[in-house]
Amino acid sequence: MEDLYGRTIDYLRVSITDRCNLRCRYCMPQEISWMQEDALLSLEEIAAVCREAAALGIRKIKLTGGEPLLRKGCARLVGMLKQIPGIEQVTLTTNGILLAAEAEALCRQGLDAVNVSLDTLDAARYHEITGFDKLPDVLAGIEAMLAVSIPVKINAVLQAGDESGWRELIALARERPLSVRFIEMMPIGHGKEFEVVSNEAVLQQLRQMEPGLKKEPRKLGNGPAVYYMLPGYAGRVGMISAMHGKFCAGCNRIRLTAAGELKPCLCYGASVSIREAVKSGDRGKVRQRIAWAIEKKPQGHAFDCREKITETREMARIGG
Ligand code: SAM
Ligand code: SF4
Repeated sequence: MEDLYGRTIDYLRVSITDRCNLRCRYCMPQEISWMQEDALLSLEEIAAVCREAAALGIRKIKLTGGEPLLRKGCARLVGMLKQIPGIEQVTLTTNGILLAAEAEALCRQGLDAVNVSLDTLDAARYHEITGFDKLPDVLAGIEAMLAVSIPVKINAVLQAGDESGWRELIALARERPLSVRFIEMMPIGHGKEFEVVSNEAVLQQLRQMEPGLKKEPRKLGNGPAVYYMLPGYAGRVGMISAMHGKFCAGCNRIRLTAAGELKPCLCYGASVSIREAVKSGDRGKVRQRIAWAIEKKPQGHAFDCREKITETREMARIGG
């Protein structure tokens, strides 16, 4: 379906839990009260929403959270979504801790690709950022996905002080057939408390380090990432410049929160609940609400103007 600005909206991000086994300091508060289990949509209800979304032109679904692999039945949900007519791609964004254990099930259920969030390869720094010593589990998860031939993209959010950490991260793209992507910190949730590391600055240094770097001419993936090829690298490097490279003109997505609210844009608090409609099996109303979320998509975010950001919830609650 097209929105009011002529953009085709074919991508739905679905948060399937607000729970997480990490406490990334720009994402999770230290004192957390999780939603009650029964406040979450069931897997069947999530699939029912996705079925109506597919009828309105959604083609790609990304499962996220919180940590989606903490939700029992996550792999089964992937299989349910893959069977919906019109859905071409089901992918997952995860911190990677449980990936090795789930790799085969996810592969069997037809997962198309995985994004693994990993901000550093330094164990001490990893602990500082996330609160846990889980780096070896994440690396094992990445290898497990490559072993079952599921494409892997690493997503890294850099913080001031980590400016050189990216060099270690891109070494992963040199050695392994995966993409390493840098996402600029957005002023959502605790992200507001952090300084943004500009992707342009990283790219400039990367050009000096690898003069043979070339911009990938094709558009790869479902999102706003711009990719670069580096000579001798098995994988690619990508830049998602949420702050310095406003990409709203090409935005193709809406979001479903763990509580069952549809959100037109990450930046604003506006949302509509789909809970009652899906629980009562009112397919017409579910469809109407999805259409509302698409029609209400604003022209662009306002991350550069703090007063205009009306989203006050944590990233893990709204599904980053
Ligand atoms: N737990 C999963 C994970 O870490 O991939 C899925 C949910 S997490 C909220 C999704 C992504 O949002 C992660 O890559 C995380 O780094 C990113 N994120 C969280 N807060 C952010 C912020 N303020 N700005 C930019 N990215 C953020
Ligand atoms: Fe959890 Fe992902 Fe947020 Fe980290 S970024 S606290 S892994 S939801």
